[in-house]
Amino acid sequence: METAIILFGALSVALLGALAFAVYTIRKLKEAEKRSVETDEMSGLLNRDGFMHAGRLALERGGDMSLVIFDVDKLGLINTLFGTDRGDDVIGAFAVAINEIKCAGDIVGRVNTDDFALLTGMEPHIAAECFERKLREIITDKDMSEQVNYFAGISRYDGHDDIYTLYNKANLCLLMHPDGSRVSEFTPDMESRMVENELLRSEMLDALKLGQFELYYQPKVSFKTGDILGVEALIRWHHPVKGFIPPCDFIPLAEQFAIITKIDEWGLITACRQCKQWQDMGLPPVKVSVNMSQAQFARTDVYASVTKALEVTGLEPKYLEIEVTETMAMTDVDRTVDVLGRIHELGVSISMDDFGTGYSSLASLKTIPFDVLKIDRSLVCDLNENDTSRRITGAIVAMGKALRMVVLAEGVETNEQSKLLGEIGCDLAQGYYFSKPLPASEIEAMLILPLNSKIV
Ligand code: C2E
Ligand code: CA
Ligand code: CA
Repeated sequence: METAIILFGALSVALLGALAFAVYTIRKLKEAEKRSVETDEMSGLLNRDGFMHAGRLALERGGDMSLVIFDVDKLGLINTLFGTDRGDDVIGAFAVAINEIKCAGDIVGRVNTDDFALLTGMEPHIAAECFERKLREIITDKDMSEQVNYFAGISRYDGHDDIYTLYNKANLCLLMHPDGSRVSEFTPDMESRMVENELLRSEMLDALKLGQFELYYQPKVSFKTGDILGVEALIRWHHPVKGFIPPCDFIPLAEQFAIITKIDEWGLITACRQCKQWQDMGLPPVKVSVNMSQAQFARTDVYASVTKALEVTGLEPKYLEIEVTETMAMTDVDRTVDVLGRIHELGVSISMDDFGTGYSSLASLKTIPFDVLKIDRSLVCDLNENDTSRRITGAIVAMGKALRMVVLAEGVETNEQSKLLGEIGCDLAQGYYFSKPLPASEIEAMLILPLNSKIV
């Protein structure tokens, strides 16, 4: 009997021990499973669920926290153009940078394919500066460094928001990135602007179908003869309720969405058709220039659009000019050189817009077959008062001439500016002094009666 009791006791202890071990093992397995469910395999950082979970706990502990989201710019494009290995390298660099700048108590995660989040006790703008320094330290390859860009959105914990609200606010900064700035902080008015933009976006789609867009044309005048040699097509939106909306209020917004490609295609074909129509009316032939946005270039086959527009409208290529900005031309140099080169071979002119802003580098002038150099309005406007602007403009004109380009001055508003630019050696002028952008019908009258009197 005694032996039986001892045996039973030993068995119970062994069973209890086994049970405890099993419970311990299951808990550990569950923890490991949870860790893997909450970890982003590629970066080794917390994934979105993990970040939100850890973030919620951190906010519950209280304290002065801010959320910074770093959004890798054009990761899809990097993957497509330079291969997924390069894309993976970029993600790796972001993961290391964000992990290395975090302080005790901070939480970092990869919350989307191209978004990294930092919940931090640091002053968020300082955290963003540290990130920038660290990232550039990590990316030593010069080519890669040029391809890599990002935007950062900041929201500060106000003691009430939950982690999701905090996240949405930082994310809103990324959607809006006001003034195109790289780092922006959430402000309450962003929410109302976001709603407005959303409305404007859906209205833009309708605007195309309902024919609310119109192209105005601004003459380009020869300094030598005063003849109008070309016109620039500039879009206008006649909104049924808000009235006239200038392009600067909707083009940047359209560029964030696929709608810009539809707008630019419409602009290209409409401008070509108008130019051909003027010729068919027997008016002196002029060249029409069309603005091409960076998004259009990145998302569509611009060469195909140009050939189609010329074919459909019957306009000869020598009467079409495409205006691109330097930033656009330098975004994806190889592809840009190739596409613009082929468009140029068709006989279409290529114009560098807004020269004198941005980098204004010689590199882009050397590699891309630009026919026209447009000196930016910011240089022209203080030409008569500012000696430096005058000297820079003179140097640009000399350089353009040396490269056998036509040099055009934009934003000419006064007779004094016009005189000086003519003396410096500019070929063409465009600006309010000669004419504001006008509807096609008013340009017709000008083509019959040129602006020769303005050139003295
Ligand atoms: P941009 O290509 O640099 O066009 C020149 C802008 O300067 C035009 O503004 C024009 O009206 C304005 N301007 C011309 N002369 C003067 C002057 O003497 N003084 C002043 N103060 N301004 C002058 P607009 O029409 O408001 O267009 C703004 C920008 O919107 C354009 O800058 C261009 O980047 C973009 N844009 C316009 N139409 C289109 C389009 O059809 N497609 C695309 N992608 N962008 C467009
Ligand atoms: Ca332009
Ligand atoms: Ca311009």
